[in-house]
Amino acid sequence: MVEECVFCKIASGAITVKAVFEDDECIAFPDINPQAPVHLLVIPRKHYADVTEAAQADAGLIGRLFATLTRVAAEQGLTPNGLRIVVNTGPQGGQTVRHLHFHLLGGRFMGWPPG
Ligand code: AMP
Ligand code: ZN
Repeated sequence: MVEECVFCKIASGAITVKAVFEDDECIAFPDINPQAPVHLLVIPRKHYADVTEAAQADAGLIGRLFATLTRVAAEQGLTPNGLRIVVNTGPQGGQTVRHLHFHLLGGRFMGWPPG
């Protein structure tokens, strides 16, 4: 756990969220500033700064998080119409919280290219 990391605090329960799914490895909860009708974050409980760090340390974790993301997407009713999974990474990637997280977005048409 990284002391000043907001997502470590969520993972440990020090900050309470309305989890839509959790297990011993990850937790899925609503983004505080939603950008779509459904906007959830899926984070590992273990702290990795970003996906490059996590993939090097534990590539299997990424696969398991995708399994969780698609399961939660189905439970949220997103799968038939489609969804978007976003992993902002580093300064130019637009990452603001340096604890690996996957955005799960759905419920509206998504634009491309991204901003
Ligand atoms: P990113 O900009 O990709 O690093 O995404 C960080 C996301 O975390 C943003 O969409 C924020 O709205 C969200 N966020 C930050 N703090 C919290 C919090 N306490 N609970 C839920 N979402 C948060
Ligand atoms: Zn953290």
